[in-house]
Amino acid sequence: MLKKNRQNKILVVEDDQDNRILTSKILDTLGFEVATAQDGLAALDILAARDISIVITDISMPRMDGMQLLEHISGEYPDVDVIVMTGHTKEFSFSKVIEAGAIDYLGKPFQADELKAKLTRCLRERDLIQALQKEAKKRQDIERNSARQQQFITNALNALTYPFYVIDAKDFTIKMGNTASGYQPNSNARQTCHSLTHKSDTPCNSTEHPCPLRVILQTKKPFSVEHIHFDKDGNERNVDVHAYPLFDEHGNVAQIIEYSLDITDRKNAEEKLRLSEQRYRHLVEGTSDLITQVDAQGRFTYINHVAQDIFGYMPEECLGKPLFDFVHPDDRSNTETWFRDTIKNRQEHMSCESRQVNQITGAVIHMRWTRTFHYNQDGVLQLVNSIGTDISNRIKLESELKRAKESAEKAAQLKSEFLANMSHEIRTPLNVILGMNRLALDTNLTSDQRHYLSAVQQNSQSLMHLINDILDLSKIEAGQLTMQYQAFNLNNLLKSTIHPLNVIATDKGLKLHYKIADNLSSVFVVGDEHRLRQILINLINNAIKFTDAGHIQVTIKQISQQGSQLFMQCSVADTGPGIAESMHKNIFNSFTQADSSVTRQLGGSGLGLAICKKLVKMMGGEIWLESKPGKGSIFYFTFTVQKANRHAAVNSVARTADSDKKALSTSLHILLAEDNKFNRDLAKIVLENQGHTVSVAVSGLDALRVLVTDNFDIILMDVQMPELDGISATRIIRQCEQNEGVNTSEHMEVIQKLHKKCSGQRIPIVAMTAHAMAGDREKCLAVGMDDYVTKPFQPDELQAVLMKIAHRGDS
Ligand code: ADP
Repeated sequence: MLKKNRQNKILVVEDDQDNRILTSKILDTLGFEVATAQDGLAALDILAARDISIVITDISMPRMDGMQLLEHISGEYPDVDVIVMTGHTKEFSFSKVIEAGAIDYLGKPFQADELKAKLTRCLRERDLIQALQKEAKKRQDIERNSARQQQFITNALNALTYPFYVIDAKDFTIKMGNTASGYQPNSNARQTCHSLTHKSDTPCNSTEHPCPLRVILQTKKPFSVEHIHFDKDGNERNVDVHAYPLFDEHGNVAQIIEYSLDITDRKNAEEKLRLSEQRYRHLVEGTSDLITQVDAQGRFTYINHVAQDIFGYMPEECLGKPLFDFVHPDDRSNTETWFRDTIKNRQEHMSCESRQVNQITGAVIHMRWTRTFHYNQDGVLQLVNSIGTDISNRIKLESELKRAKESAEKAAQLKSEFLANMSHEIRTPLNVILGMNRLALDTNLTSDQRHYLSAVQQNSQSLMHLINDILDLSKIEAGQLTMQYQAFNLNNLLKSTIHPLNVIATDKGLKLHYKIADNLSSVFVVGDEHRLRQILINLINNAIKFTDAGHIQVTIKQISQQGSQLFMQCSVADTGPGIAESMHKNIFNSFTQADSSVTRQLGGSGLGLAICKKLVKMMGGEIWLESKPGKGSIFYFTFTVQKANRHAAVNSVARTADSDKKALSTSLHILLAEDNKFNRDLAKIVLENQGHTVSVAVSGLDALRVLVTDNFDIILMDVQMPELDGISATRIIRQCEQNEGVNTSEHMEVIQKLHKKCSGQRIPIVAMTAHAMAGDREKCLAVGMDDYVTKPFQPDELQAVLMKIAHRGDS
């Protein structure tokens, strides 16, 4: 009681001091803590400290009486209980003070017990009220907590982006659901899990995707399954449904918690991946290429079905086996080196070819590989992907082509040899016919005889042209004709070409003009002068041949320049019969003639333009014509030459001057080695007519013998001779001159004599041969000959060569 009373501080408000003290004392003895005030106003000051539980107040007091105080307390301090004391019990209205908020009253004077009883009741009521208030507050707190918890759960569930429900196990109605589920808590409509997720009035009974609720009702265990649901907007979604049972107190499933995760995107990605993998698989499995992957140790980690065709093993049998084991032993070291170098240089791509061996059949397969090397961030090799293509057929084809090419080349070679031999056989007698005929024409003849012999001369020359053309064409086709480049002046070339042709043109009553662009007349260029002259002669000859009246105009001009390279165009225009348009293309083909009747009359082989076309092509140009029947023809051709530097130009001029000088006649003592009697006689007559003295030898060996006994200025050496040919004879002469041993067991006697005779000397030797194929000249020069003339030779040509050699060293 004392303890409790100490907790309840009592304020005694009494203007009468004795009463105040008495009441305080009683209360003190009852164990209360007491405060006092002599009127209402003083009491309000104390009440402001808010530690007063009960106020015992007098009614009549100065300044503020008990009723006024009561009014204040009821308004401002509802927790404070007020007991009113009054001595005027008769006028006192109990009901008035109770109405005003007091809980009891005391009539003065009062007994301590009476006060104690009143206070005890008051305190009990206070306790009761406080207990009730506490209880009410507790309940309020619980309710507020539970509401807060409920709100928290609702918020938490609504925060979930996937649907969440609590479903009644009996009728599948939804008891609770978050926003994502589409559940409407305030709706009166019946909301079931199937109406929300399947947009259906009946529960789902798919066997492919069993309803999790039905399964849980049977098994009483949590269950997960993939399903197709509709989202709240009605879109079909793939979902992973997870369901858990909630049991009642009897252990029966009362409710089911279910949530579903949307896996549509994952499913779509998986499907995409599946399709892309499928595509990739179809590609890899459908290809006829071998596709492999090896690890950093070179062991197969993947290989497609082509493995069986190439290696003889099923793909799975190859896995783990080293790649190099399948490479042909002869290619293995190369392949290993390629790998090593690629990895060393951190290269990502490599292409190579190697042979593989089929481990079952032993077949060798040529493969072309494209490999990709994959490294990690530290540059360490992780794997190598390779695509291998079987190129065995290509290799086979290539080797067949090579064989075919070789045999074609061989055939061309044989053809060339045949032509060389044939031309030799034809040229040799022709040489004699032309030479002898020319000599005969130089004698006194009757006009009939001159006419006959002139015909012989003309026809022999035509025959010689034909042979030369055939030879040229076959040389070009066999790739044996090479361009001989030297510096020359275009103006000089044109002049010297036109000069002899002008004689023929004039004989026919034609005018032959030529024009060279001013800027070119003094320019020296580097090109094949001889072949350029050949083209010009061909075209001008044709123009003269086919034109009956009028003129021929030859023009050369430069069309462009690139650095020192000059692109030239030459045209030969005539006023002849012209050529039908239909023939313009074919006319450049071998053996093609525009008008055979005219050609029959004028002669010709149809080879000239074909040769021109090929020569022009070799000079980097083209040839074409503009012509109409009755309107004449213009043949155009282009060619490239290099602008000659000063040095080359000066040399060229010097060469020309030199050859002019050498043309000065000198009498020479000549050894003529020739096995053909007619040729020998012809050459001897020609040479003697030119003022030379001539000794003859009938073979190479005979030439050696004559050399031992006589001294000569020059030897003219036929190449093909019996006993010892011209090449061998020259080799022996040069070895004797240089005091070298001669590697032969034959003709030792004459060779020994020659050694003694010729040692330290050097006699010029000029080859004389009907062999006009490429390489003949080189062959002769290689054994030490000084020059080369082809049979049939023109007397002037022969004389020029002889003089050139005779005057060598004069300058
Ligand atoms: P060829 O003159 O020896 O028959 P070409 O190949 O030089 O052989 O000429 C082929 C043909 O082209 C000639 O036969 C002739 O029909 C025709 N032809 C060539 N040049 C002329 C020309 N200037 N005028 C008319 N026809 C020509």
